[in-house]
Amino acid sequence: MMQFEDASTPQTAPLVDPFGRHIDYLRLSVTDRCDFRCVYCMAENMHFLPKAEILTLEELDRLSTVFIDHGVRRLRLTGGEPLVRRGIMTLISSLSRHLESGALDELTLTTNGSQLSRFAADLSACGVRRINVSLDTLREDRFRAITRWGRFEQVLDGIESALAHGIKIKLNVVALKGVNDDEYDEMIRFCHERGMDITFIETMPMGEIDFDRTDMYLPLSDVRKALQGSWTLSPSHHKTGGPASYVTVEETGGRIGFITPLTHNFCESCNRVRITCTGTLFMCLGQEDAADLRKPLRQSEGNELVINAIRQAIDRKPKGHDFVIDRKNNRPSIGRHMSVTGG
Ligand code: SAM
Ligand code: SF4
Repeated sequence: MMQFEDASTPQTAPLVDPFGRHIDYLRLSVTDRCDFRCVYCMAENMHFLPKAEILTLEELDRLSTVFIDHGVRRLRLTGGEPLVRRGIMTLISSLSRHLESGALDELTLTTNGSQLSRFAADLSACGVRRINVSLDTLREDRFRAITRWGRFEQVLDGIESALAHGIKIKLNVVALKGVNDDEYDEMIRFCHERGMDITFIETMPMGEIDFDRTDMYLPLSDVRKALQGSWTLSPSHHKTGGPASYVTVEETGGRIGFITPLTHNFCESCNRVRITCTGTLFMCLGQEDAADLRKPLRQSEGNELVINAIRQAIDRKPKGHDFVIDRKNNRPSIGRHMSVTGG
């Protein structure tokens, strides 16, 4: 197993915010780059960050390890597209030592699936048991229109490859009015036939894109109502530690999740924080407040400065988010792109 120099600090007090929420889930963006340009996520011409600003693989490992040493039990790598980061398997392989030691319950990622055929075997060997794959349509022409640069076959092959290596998949589908809202039944069937869960997500007002996002916004309450016409949905108590609420489809035995940041406030149970690939800690996806961890990380070889910065930031974790789709001004309520904080 590839391993970076161990930056373990002795286990100290866990990270608890002012509302008593234990921070045990970290989402870490490993790159702001992506091989797709999904229309709701990125503009076609994006300015990516210079390399010096991005944490190195060693720094990503060190920072993750600090969080794990202070009670984080689940780590999700995201991006941009995590699997296009050069050397990503070195990082994942190194982080897998925390699964082996029992310090971490889960090491997982959110991916667009394009590189899964290449990496499924290695991911499985590193103890990755479950991943989220984002796919908004099963029609090739629509896929091209949504992702701009994506290759549909490559994603389908990637999904099959991950499943063949025993990796469980949850498909994330962004609900897009007038774009994919006529194919949810088909997508549910596709997923449940393969033993995959499916989760619908509302578009979030994050980052400037090339057109008006309010046109695509589809409340999941409408999606749920429409699905009830085709399927028998029973409430499910299934929890993944994430913000989705689940129902079971009686006809298939599979599950559907709904992530409704705009129509439902899921903040009370928020146990997570996010770090960008530049080492900026966001205590809430829907707020601008953040803390720079790169500076304390680079300032000293020991971890005291960085853990102090983390604790100060967690002390400011807000109670909830401020998302609004602002129809009047047609501006995103959060200026940064989802690909910066990784969703
Ligand atoms: N590239 C990877 C992927 O697509 O899975 C990981 C990063 S991507 C930013 C994470 C998730 O955020 C994806 O499921 C994507 O569909 C979702 N996403 C991106 N922009 C969004 C937005 N404005 N509103 C809602 N979901 C968004
Ligand atoms: Fe890339 Fe994921 Fe954003 Fe699509 S949603 S552009 S795949 S980061």
